[in-house]
Amino acid sequence: MTARYDLAIVGSGFSGALLGMIARRLGLSVVMIEKGRHPRVVIGESSTPLTNLMLEEISDRYDLPSVRPLSKWGTWQRAHPEIGCGLKRGFTFYHHDLENPRHRSPERSEQLLVAASPHDEISDTHWFRADFDHFLVQQAQKLGVEYLEETAVTGFSESSEGVTVDGTRHGCAVSISAKFLVDASGPRGFLHCALGLSELELPGFPATQALYSHFEGVGKLQDLYPMPDGESPYPVDDAAVHHVFDGGWIWMLQFNNGVTSAGVAATDAFAEKYRFGGGTDAWRHILSRIPALESQFASARAVRPFTRIPRLAFRSGQIAGSRWALLPSAAGFVDPLLSIGFPLTLLGVSRLAEIFAKCWDSPRFEASLRDYAAQTEADLLATARLIGALYANMSNFSVFVSLTLLYFAAVSYSEAARRLGKPHLAPSFLLRDHPDFGPACRCLLEQARQPLTGEESRVFSEEILQVIEPFNVADLGNPARRNWYPVDPEDLLRSASKLDATESEVMALLQRCGFQLQ
Ligand SMILES: Cc1cc2nc3c(=O)[nH]c(=O)nc-3n(C[C@H](O)[C@H](O)[C@H](O)COP(=O)(O)OP(=O)(O)OC[C@H]3O[C@@H](n4cnc5c(N)ncnc54)[C@H](O)[C@@H]3O)c2cc1C
Repeated sequence: MTARYDLAIVGSGFSGALLGMIARRLGLSVVMIEKGRHPRVVIGESSTPLTNLMLEEISDRYDLPSVRPLSKWGTWQRAHPEIGCGLKRGFTFYHHDLENPRHRSPERSEQLLVAASPHDEISDTHWFRADFDHFLVQQAQKLGVEYLEETAVTGFSESSEGVTVDGTRHGCAVSISAKFLVDASGPRGFLHCALGLSELELPGFPATQALYSHFEGVGKLQDLYPMPDGESPYPVDDAAVHHVFDGGWIWMLQFNNGVTSAGVAATDAFAEKYRFGGGTDAWRHILSRIPALESQFASARAVRPFTRIPRLAFRSGQIAGSRWALLPSAAGFVDPLLSIGFPLTLLGVSRLAEIFAKCWDSPRFEASLRDYAAQTEADLLATARLIGALYANMSNFSVFVSLTLLYFAAVSYSEAARRLGKPHLAPSFLLRDHPDFGPACRCLLEQARQPLTGEESRVFSEEILQVIEPFNVADLGNPARRNWYPVDPEDLLRSASKLDATESEVMALLQRCGFQLQ
């Protein structure tokens, strides 16, 4: 089989499918090549407010009405109850000392609950990727994307006309030519191998591994760490639940189809100590050091074999050429902590979409791609600085909490600015380019990589509060909250001036977004 297209996309996860749909809306002919077949299980499931805002923006800008309902729990449940989904009202963290297992619920100082939405209707979600990605691929096909699954492509060549990929499908040779190729095949994916691209270090980031599976029969944390009714900012299980300890952390995401996604990401030293190579045994060993988790998993069963990723972080030595580009998810990865993979990937989808819309066939195309590569790399490095500092403080939870406030302040400010139609206030991911926030944040993250004494930790946390203050639209760090942060519209209203907005603009925004105001 030989065919020619404007755009070839390798990989049919949500990013490849979305970009394919957008490219069709822009009038390009598109082929999407997948080595596996849908529905297939992949990991990376938890969304965030910024992720969902970007999904909304993409679906509105490129007229993709089938995508929009997936940006919130309520609309998703009404439009597509058949697509597995988890309710994510916020980020739940508990701190543990595995050397001294504790049978009672952690103190408030060992907890962090950050709500992301005020009620279920407009809540974030966990995407059950087998269903979610399958649905998007079907939508892409409906828009005219040519989809070739079970296709193994290995060869890649470039000419003045474009690119050609060669491979086999069901035993037959396949040769596909396109003007441009986007690699959406994930870390160490298609072009990494075909072009022999180098792999670079993520400066300051430790070597980490992961071990994970999907489970059935997992209990509820609420039954083990009971929260007084209505007191916590949201039901603790309706969240991305993080259990943090020296050297690593465990994630737990519960879906509405009875499946729970759970796994551990940790440094090499931790992985060696707990023998990650042993799969189930390693998992059981770690759970035995956290009694509540052990009880939660007492009747659970893994529904698929454990997967071990021996090297989690990745950074490609090159992100774009003149006729190809890696999506951010193929260009690099840091860690699942704080669910940053989706927003970075969607940022890349939006940036490439804009280049296709404005510069396709124009002399500016190559320069835009160079800019795309630079932005993608800068986002990745900013993420690695943040998560690296968090890893360095997994045994110093008060500093860990303060560091997360840098993230929560930057993303909640960015979301509010974009929703107010003022994206210029927050043009870069994690405000990394902001003239005040960017350098100050970088300096703090550098400092946090060294061990801090008790007094140094206190001073450090104070400094973080000062840095986030001009961007803090969620009352983060208020000691009266004692590490529990609900979504309170009053906080945003009080912060209107930080967003160059009036109270009535903020009020209108809250109403548009589905807040139930008094
Ligand atoms: C353990 C872990 C947990 C994570 N948790 C989160 C999270 O909670 N939240 C979050 O935001 N991010 C998370 N991430 C990141 C997230 O997984 C990625 O951002 C996301 O999966 C990227 O989606 P994608 O569609 O670009 O690529 P993928 O989901 O990686 O899909 C790539 C597709 O390409 C196909 N493919 C691969 N190689 C080839 C080839 N050579 N030829 C053809 N097809 C190919 C694959 O079969 C697959 O279908 C996590 C990552 C890991 C490793």
